[in-house]
Amino acid sequence: MNLSKRLEKNCGKLIFDCTDEELFCGILKTVSELKTEQKNEKSKKKLYYISAEFLIGRLLECNLLNLGVYDEIKKILSDNGKDISRIAELEAEPSLGNGGLGRLAACFMDSVAHMGLEGDGVGLLYHYGLFKQVFADNKQHEEKNPWISENSIINKTEISYKTEFSDCTLTSRLYTIDIIGKNRTNKLNLFDIETVDESVAKDATEFDKTDIKKNLTLFLYPDDSDEAGKRLRLYQEYFMASNAAHLILEETIRRGGTPETLNEYAVVQINDTHPSLIIPELIRLLCECGVGMDKSIEIVRNMCAYTNHTILSEALEKWHADTVAALIPRIMEIIKELDRRVKTECQDKSLHIIDENSLVHMARMDIHYGFSVNGVASLHTKILKETELNNFYRIYPKKFNNKTNGISMRRWLSVANPRLEQFIVSLIGDGFKDDYLKLKELEKFADDDEVLQKLIDIKLENKIDLCTYIEEKQGRNINSNSVFDVQIKRLHEYKRQQMNALYLINKYLDIKRGILPKRPITAIFGAKAAPAYTIAKDIIHLILCLEDIISHDEHASLYINIFVAENYNVSWAERIIPAADISEQISLASKEASGTGNMKLMLNGALTLGTHDGANVEINSLVGDDNIYTFGDSSDLVIARYKKGSYKPSEYYEKDKRINEAVEYITCNKMLEVGDKTSLKRLQNELINKDYFMTFPDFADYTATKDRMLCDYEDRMAWARKMLINIANAGYFSADRTVAEYNKEIWKL
Ligand SMILES: *Cc1c(COP(=O)(O)O)cnc(C)c1O
Repeated sequence: MNLSKRLEKNCGKLIFDCTDEELFCGILKTVSELKTEQKNEKSKKKLYYISAEFLIGRLLECNLLNLGVYDEIKKILSDNGKDISRIAELEAEPSLGNGGLGRLAACFMDSVAHMGLEGDGVGLLYHYGLFKQVFADNKQHEEKNPWISENSIINKTEISYKTEFSDCTLTSRLYTIDIIGKNRTNKLNLFDIETVDESVAKDATEFDKTDIKKNLTLFLYPDDSDEAGKRLRLYQEYFMASNAAHLILEETIRRGGTPETLNEYAVVQINDTHPSLIIPELIRLLCECGVGMDKSIEIVRNMCAYTNHTILSEALEKWHADTVAALIPRIMEIIKELDRRVKTECQDKSLHIIDENSLVHMARMDIHYGFSVNGVASLHTKILKETELNNFYRIYPKKFNNKTNGISMRRWLSVANPRLEQFIVSLIGDGFKDDYLKLKELEKFADDDEVLQKLIDIKLENKIDLCTYIEEKQGRNINSNSVFDVQIKRLHEYKRQQMNALYLINKYLDIKRGILPKRPITAIFGAKAAPAYTIAKDIIHLILCLEDIISHDEHASLYINIFVAENYNVSWAERIIPAADISEQISLASKEASGTGNMKLMLNGALTLGTHDGANVEINSLVGDDNIYTFGDSSDLVIARYKKGSYKPSEYYEKDKRINEAVEYITCNKMLEVGDKTSLKRLQNELINKDYFMTFPDFADYTATKDRMLCDYEDRMAWARKMLINIANAGYFSADRTVAEYNKEIWKL
């Protein structure tokens, strides 16, 4: 049946007569029919990618693209006066992730399916996700973010397991989302509890955290600043790990394996430490099947691989042994046994799973009892080997490896920026879609003025689109002729949105003094702060207050503006990234493990303003020093400065005029008119007296580099040449490449 007829049948009437809602449902049905027509090859071994987050974004357009029918459907719709983007907007964005780690998991699932590999994701079905960010009084407020609806993409299955805790037994229910790739369809397995009750959460932060039978799967990362919150997270983690372990064992047996041969049939990638309890749980299950302890440990050690995402010590999970013992005593017994074995081998206390304060270190368990430990960018892996995990590296040198992150080129180029993609195809054909390294062929146009002009034109069209969207969404009028300077990522002190804000204060005050930029600047932010992370919320407050002041300043706002996207998510990213000129990647060197936003922005022709951190370092070596703007202290210097403990921000505050002026401004009268004194004062104090992520030492260089960048922007052709070099070299960051490396060196499917 031809596609048009098929769609018509699935809509139940003529396409012309359908509402967008009816078309949305009809397309969903069509997608699901086309998917079942794919042949899915079975391999012996299967990958289970287990993660607390999957920030998958809307799926409709990507699914159509991966099925190879996107262009045709788009045309059928437009022939009938319908707009595919408007229809796609009807899908609620799944609220299953928070930031880069969850987005990475989503890009990997896309690439695994694209490459025809058999690999499923495993996680939890959060009903309200992280939270929906709303702004009021220049502050972030958190609301529930419901996204599951009638005709959603989730399929209920018959699969259900029991998870035993000391005080209750929970019954799970497996739901799946199809991950449709060009070459096969895999599944995202999301476990829910049967007894979930959405009504217990009146609010996104205030709810009864002890009512586990009802609340377990309501929120991602519930506030863990109190004991009940900590326990709820541990309940979630064990529930996820236990269900994953049951699923893996059951599927393996169905595939003809046995408990003894589990590691020949399954490989588990543990995405950060949240799923780490899968190790003791698999061991427990194997023992239950009659496999002895030694053998069970060996099997599990041969099938689990751990990805480290951070060296921030507060993000490396530790549980108090008493808490673990109280909730999941059987698992605590196994962890104790694993720790006992470590302790008989290693004297070095920093290697012990359970430390002298009775804290259970999840990452340490992963490293001892997994066969692979990987960092997510070369610099990050180097720091793990040489500093953070050096003692582990010395005993297990072969386990350590690097897998530089990647992004789904299909989502971040084909779907997000069709104009650019079509232009690339017109220049080099579409062979690059099978091997994105071929984007390199674009370099032969580096001195072709017509090509460079077209890149500028495409960027402008994307900026105009974004302006329209912003106007619709948040009623702000943005000048599409300004430079779009973009910092979009979770709010965290190490990512240093505060440094960008201080720069903007200086710029604003310069403008008030009559020092005008050559071209207006629009600083675009998107960021959610964890609800209990006070300083992060103070930083958002600062930025929103500045936005408020500047947008009401008739004169200054002709030259500078701030726009903060409310509830930053994948859908926002898909709009902002194609329109970005400057990509702010300004984390304190050594702190951003990789970053993937930097890759998406590079691919879309934004130039990086970045520190020598994470994957910025690799971007730098790919494009060369002339096509990136780097600044700031090196990771070596930063690590040494931490070690010495000698950093005193007050010295910079007293000596550096620009810093002093910007920091003083945070609590000036104008700010206090629109802002909250306690919050602003707290942030100011934090900067002057602590500045843990060392904003001030990098500030002068940041300012000078950014100003040079703005100046360079005015040579439009030279800038466009840099854009082209960035796009041409972004192919290395295809998640297809990353996944191929995981498969070759770790999964071996
Ligand atoms: C890519 C992405 C991130 C990660 O951004 P970083 O700059 O790497 O921290 C976070 N959130 C969303 C919605 C993304 O698309």
